[in-house]
Amino acid sequence: MYFYCEKCKKQYPLNTHAIRCSCGGLFRLHKDAEDQVPQTVHIGHMVTPLVPMQAGGIDVLLKLENLQPTGSYKDRGAAALVNVAASLGIERIALDSAGYAGASMAAYAAAAGMACKVFVPAGVPESVVQQLTMYGAEVVRVAGTRMDACAEVKRHLGSSWYYASPAYNPLFTEGVKSLAHELYEQLGGKVPEYIFVPAGNGGLLMGLYLGFMEVGRLPRLVAVQSDGCAPLYRAFEEAKGIAGNRAAAAEAPASLFDDPNFSIERPKRLKEMLFAVESSGGAVVTVTEEELRAAQRALGRRGVYAELSAAAGLAAAQKFFPHGKPDNYRVIVPVTGSGFKR
Ligand SMILES: [Zn+2]
Repeated sequence: MYFYCEKCKKQYPLNTHAIRCSCGGLFRLHKDAEDQVPQTVHIGHMVTPLVPMQAGGIDVLLKLENLQPTGSYKDRGAAALVNVAASLGIERIALDSAGYAGASMAAYAAAAGMACKVFVPAGVPESVVQQLTMYGAEVVRVAGTRMDACAEVKRHLGSSWYYASPAYNPLFTEGVKSLAHELYEQLGGKVPEYIFVPAGNGGLLMGLYLGFMEVGRLPRLVAVQSDGCAPLYRAFEEAKGIAGNRAAAAEAPASLFDDPNFSIERPKRLKEMLFAVESSGGAVVTVTEEELRAAQRALGRRGVYAELSAAAGLAAAQKFFPHGKPDNYRVIVPVTGSGFKR
């Protein structure tokens, strides 16, 4: 396995301390058929249940990723990244995070005996900091936004800290691919018709896309963003040539949606995400805060305690099929994160 540049194809070893190629391109992962991600370090991430739910006029299958050890699907990505890093003798990892990714990396780093530093923006909930601290991570609070935390960690990395960023490091996405294989098996060797995915920085979307590419067939991938912060939606609409019908939404206040698990201002891999959505025959859907809260409540009434951004898939599925859906469509809604966190 090695990294290569998406633009100039230059190769880099997996233990590189470069964040991206010297030409500015982002890394992708090259993996040969015989390459295996080690699974030595394990904190109990698992095959999560798939449970049916009747929501409005449609029936969906909830994939309960909120049950993973640290509370989100990101444990899949962290498992792969930390296991590979450990096998390469890396002893210190760092990343910027507003919650779930930091918790996943910190937990796996703890189990691997690695040092972990998490740069968090001001205003992350105290419960998030407590979880990170409990895993033994050093928490560095950065004044400002998530972008500021990202800039700060990059200044800090040098040659001694390995950047464990879900957005930059393709080993994270490599781990998330397991979700696709798992769904395929749980559906008895069938690919679902639709999956509704919070877009975030693309970790889940790209993991599902690459995983189902390995399976051999793509479900329609529908990415979900908040109507207050929807760069992927705008790119998708522009590509369809009907730009601008929601341009005003970009002006909407983004307070509640300043959540990297759901909508972020400028995902690093926007083009890749757009390609994944388009080549799957999928779409991009925006949801309002009201729709999100209603979906979170509906999940609660089903006995599932989801974080607000983790209700995005359900909100979008209901919006996407306003008059019900064909009976034979299997619609997957990953519940990406636990409500216990915030
Ligand atoms: Zn390059």
